[in-house]
Amino acid sequence: MSSPAPRALPAIEKLVHALGPLPFPRPLAVDLARRLVAELRGAGATPEFDDALGTLRERVAHRARSRLQPVINATGILAHTNLGRAPLGSAVAAALADVARGYSNLELDLDSGERGPRAAYLEAALALACDAPAATVVNNCAAALVLILRQLVAGDRREVVISRGELVQIGGGFRIPDILETSGARLREVGTTNRTTPDDYRAALGPATALVLRVHQSNFYMDGFVAAPATRELTALAHEHQLPFVEDLGSGALIDTAATAPGSGTRREPRPQDLLAAGADLVCFSGDKLLGGPQAGIIAGRADLVADLKRHPLFRALRCDKLVFAALQATIDRYLAAAPRRDAPAPDGIPVLDALRVPVSVLQARGAALLERWRDLPLDLALAETRAQVGGGVCPRSEIPSIAVQLRPRLGSVASLAARLRTGSPPVLGFIADDALHLDLRTVFPDQDEALTAAVRAASI
Ligand SMILES: *Cc1c(COP(=O)(O)O)cnc(C)c1O
Repeated sequence: MSSPAPRALPAIEKLVHALGPLPFPRPLAVDLARRLVAELRGAGATPEFDDALGTLRERVAHRARSRLQPVINATGILAHTNLGRAPLGSAVAAALADVARGYSNLELDLDSGERGPRAAYLEAALALACDAPAATVVNNCAAALVLILRQLVAGDRREVVISRGELVQIGGGFRIPDILETSGARLREVGTTNRTTPDDYRAALGPATALVLRVHQSNFYMDGFVAAPATRELTALAHEHQLPFVEDLGSGALIDTAATAPGSGTRREPRPQDLLAAGADLVCFSGDKLLGGPQAGIIAGRADLVADLKRHPLFRALRCDKLVFAALQATIDRYLAAAPRRDAPAPDGIPVLDALRVPVSVLQARGAALLERWRDLPLDLALAETRAQVGGGVCPRSEIPSIAVQLRPRLGSVASLAARLRTGSPPVLGFIADDALHLDLRTVFPDQDEALTAAVRAASI
């Protein structure tokens, strides 16, 4: 404190008091007020009390909105990474709450009363669902890939052979070459961006090779003059050289995505069970993309490799907590209960899959009912045919026919209507196209129509 504060600066306590009821604990408001006053002092400003209060009020509201909270997803993107990817169904959420509220047998064998392994049931269920000898789970798919690389890249075997077409970036800050480097691996790129042949791989395999890695091109697609070896061919080649073949599937739908949303143009997402049947030694995929569960990274494949991974010191650092186990266990139970056969239809109660299957006619009827209810609002309303997407970097080319309510405000701009909805309570996220705000109904749960109506009403005045 070298220079004394100008006397006219508003006192922190007075500012906070003048805010009235707070949307969060008081220390957070005091902290914002302290920062504001320090800023004003730094700028040598001596604003009116009311001006400082106005700024503080805006900052408090902004901070309150940044609190993790439920939003209505009207973007038409089913597993939207910015919106928390897969929502959990009510049965799965209830199973999670049950474990969350009390103690659990997380590391206790109830039969012997002795310490037991974590997630024994979940691992058995996952292995069954993936048609795999063994499975385990870590924090997310990125962690799964790091763990696998750390385990398999060892000694003189440091090279990971991967096609140039698969050195991809997935979402914010997840780049395959960086992950490889972090894991102490040496990248051995083969082929070209658009074409990689079995011979390209064959020429790269040698005494320094640790594994052959394939990364599913999940969030983009290549078309035209492209080639990549069939999985079976590549796994056979790896095995000829006594090397493991690993595939990062990204989403890794357990169900046939094309059959789940017929006529949707949804591309068939590779299933872990297909890859393992084609000879992959390990696969990894996310829990919260098309699987529709909590954030997790599932690893399935050879029992000896899975056992090695679980013994790796990094496994302890990447392990999931009991809440994730509870939600994932309930999710996988639904798959197993619904799908005793490999090609059985998708289970119910997994919101991402439920939303994928809703017929357009049902969305149309909901949309018509909403138009009727919103008729008195100062908006020009219409229904529009839209294209929903899976999101989360899954099936980028697939377009699922959907219906959106189109809103054009009679007064003010579309952008400001969108902003009012986004900052309302609950926040509503749509998208702007054709100079109108679109609320895609495929991702809005039917029981949210009431809350959506209230939000639209509040935002359109
Ligand atoms: C999404 C994705 C990941 C990252 O998965 P997280 O569970 O978010 O860590 C990794 N690889 C591929 C191919 C993906 O599509």
